[in-house]
Amino acid sequence: MGETVHSPLVTYVSMLSLLTLCPPFVILLWYTMVHADGSISQTWDYLKQHMLQGFINIWPRPTATAWKIIACYAAFEAALQLLLPGKRVEGPVSPAGNRPVYKANGMAAYIVTLLTYLGLWWFGIFNPSVVYDHLGEIFSALIFGSFVFCVFLYLKGHIAPSSADSGSSGNIIIDFYWGMELYPRIGKHFDIKVFTNCRFGMMSWAVLAVTYCIKQYEENGTVADSMLVNTTLMLVYVTKFFWWEAGYFNTMDIAHDRAGFYICWGCLVWVPSIYTSPGMYLVNHPINLGIQLALYILVAGVLCIYINYDCDMQRQEFRRTNGKCLVWGKAPSKIVASYTTSSGETKTSLLLTSGWWGLSRHFHYVPEILAAFFWTVPALFDHFLPYFYVIFLTILLFDRAKRDDDRCRSKYGKYWKLYCEKVPYRIIPGIY
Ligand code: NDP
Repeated sequence: MGETVHSPLVTYVSMLSLLTLCPPFVILLWYTMVHADGSISQTWDYLKQHMLQGFINIWPRPTATAWKIIACYAAFEAALQLLLPGKRVEGPVSPAGNRPVYKANGMAAYIVTLLTYLGLWWFGIFNPSVVYDHLGEIFSALIFGSFVFCVFLYLKGHIAPSSADSGSSGNIIIDFYWGMELYPRIGKHFDIKVFTNCRFGMMSWAVLAVTYCIKQYEENGTVADSMLVNTTLMLVYVTKFFWWEAGYFNTMDIAHDRAGFYICWGCLVWVPSIYTSPGMYLVNHPINLGIQLALYILVAGVLCIYINYDCDMQRQEFRRTNGKCLVWGKAPSKIVASYTTSSGETKTSLLLTSGWWGLSRHFHYVPEILAAFFWTVPALFDHFLPYFYVIFLTILLFDRAKRDDDRCRSKYGKYWKLYCEKVPYRIIPGIY
């Protein structure tokens, strides 16, 4: 615990800049999308003219309405997480040798959430446009609320950790930023990371995608095909996520990244604001693509989401069946890798070296990035800002591939070296 992938200086600089720059960026992005026509130069001119006071003026104060919307949404999602039935699934063995247990009710929660939201609109009980109209205040409240929540996580990690998969690096900033606990819980069953990452963060993506679509409809009496493509692709992506949620419990976010600012603040604030931003842009830009172009983009996007899903499923099935499955119609080729847990036990894992996982070590990031491009490209090329998410995602996943490679190298040693010899490319086959 406490070891960092990059050099200590890079780690500190990147941690401190993320901690200080992300919150104002969220507000500036929202402001530009909603009040400055999506134009960075318009926002820039405004800031040049009004300087710091101008920035303070555009930062919306969290209002009672914003807090109420967030509280109702969070309470609803927490209740669904606790109460909806779901299969019992076990996560992977943790570094301390524990095996966390989860309830796989994500898909049910997703369906109930969307039906409830659409039902509230349809029957005139709550208009999703209200969410769009208070978006700045909501993001502002989320920024402060999530920061406080991360302080709570930090304190909980010190005072009342839920399991032995917890510990301090001895540095307060690293502990706050990377987190203390691997899977903190409230009581025995309420898993905090499942809540922040899946039920709050990923769910908000779908809810906001629908919100933007409805807002455009309420404004114009119709929805442009660009918005339809964007919303459909984002919903297909989030549906895929919840369909495969139990598999997500085996990924880096849940199995390796501790509950701190990096992952939790990211899921509570960055996902609803930045991930949904291409849709936010389209609300005021009802671009018409024409049926043919719209369909091409839609099909390409769905294909990428499917390939990304298939990569994840291939790894999951391979691990679940202990390698006794077919990969692209053939018996999989694999490496049997042994490693030692932090408690000193020796265990083995299988590394798949065929199928998608034989093309490159993180091939699944390619369709992930392309899918994001396809749900952004309906915005066409008038402005750069809608593409911020795709660029951010590309940097995030290239960094993540490095972090994961480094972690696996230290976990599996010579077996990982063997995998790298068999599958030499990190992400893009033949190139990188
Ligand atoms: P992965 O699903 O790639 O999981 C990485 C882990 O898988 C490794 O740490 C290792 O864990 C194991 N592993 C590595 N190589 C092999 C192999 N050859 N065979 C079997 N197991 C292997 O992690 P991610 O969390 O990065 O990705 C999961 C999904 O989430 C992807 O679809 C990705 O695109 C998506 N994603 C989306 C993001 C977004 O912001 N939109 C951000 C991050 C991910 P072990 O210790 O068990 O061996």
